[in-house]
Amino acid sequence: MMMSEDKKKYKIYWFIGAILSFFTYFSGLILIYNAVRKKLISRSRAVILTYHRIRDDAEDSEISVKIKNFENQIQHLKKNFDIIPLQELIRCIENRFPITNDSAVITFDDGYKDNYQNAYPVLKKNNLPGTIFLISSLIGKNSDMLSLDEINEMNKHNISFGSHTVTHRILSEIDTDLAKSEIKKSKESLQNLLKQKIEFFAYPVGKKRHFNEAAKAAIKRCGYKAALTTINGSADASRDLFEIKRVGIRNCPLFVFKVRVSGLFESGPVFFIRKLFNLI
Ligand SMILES: [Zn+2]
Repeated sequence: MMMSEDKKKYKIYWFIGAILSFFTYFSGLILIYNAVRKKLISRSRAVILTYHRIRDDAEDSEISVKIKNFENQIQHLKKNFDIIPLQELIRCIENRFPITNDSAVITFDDGYKDNYQNAYPVLKKNNLPGTIFLISSLIGKNSDMLSLDEINEMNKHNISFGSHTVTHRILSEIDTDLAKSEIKKSKESLQNLLKQKIEFFAYPVGKKRHFNEAAKAAIKRCGYKAALTTINGSADASRDLFEIKRVGIRNCPLFVFKVRVSGLFESGPVFFIRKLFNLI
């Protein structure tokens, strides 16, 4: 779920990103970048991908990826990354273990039913892990959202679950007590429903201005191990376990996806230029 003001902004960012991806990909620059990174300076990266919906009848390409595109993206990841569970990557970041192979974590925000219908079969077929962040009050609420049965089935097959609050309110825009209750009650209710510990949290909308220090403190106090944002960047570059960066994936051509997950746009010089133009 996204706000319309954000939608406009990210449309522009993605358009610029797609053009840059076109040139970096088809000029061969991306191959050179990957070769230098992997072979010359032996730097591996860890990336957490943010998906929302996987479906074909999608108008809103900001949050929906078509099924065939999703399958192609997963195949690219399988070939080029170790696809690992979120908890494994968080353990590495927490203990500052070096990332020895390029690693990817697949996450979905909001808990749409199409995650079960369209994404889960692809992940299951390929025996891959993933994590879905649920809005606790919306479970089984309508035909668009995951039901408890679907959640339980996926839970048995490598899909883990985290909290995305009770009602998807933006934590920096509500009063502190309400934010605390969104953070705490969602954890409690998911733990009751799933009969297991909920360790991870994803901020609604998730850019820097959508959460604050009070929310972060409440998340830590509730016993979550980490919190994920939608701030763009490599996960291993996240210095703070409660501000983990991710890379948002849209319904884009495969070459754009390849450039996005390569980390080129988050590499030192490119990041400097993005910062200069406030394109972060
Ligand atoms: Zn969301």
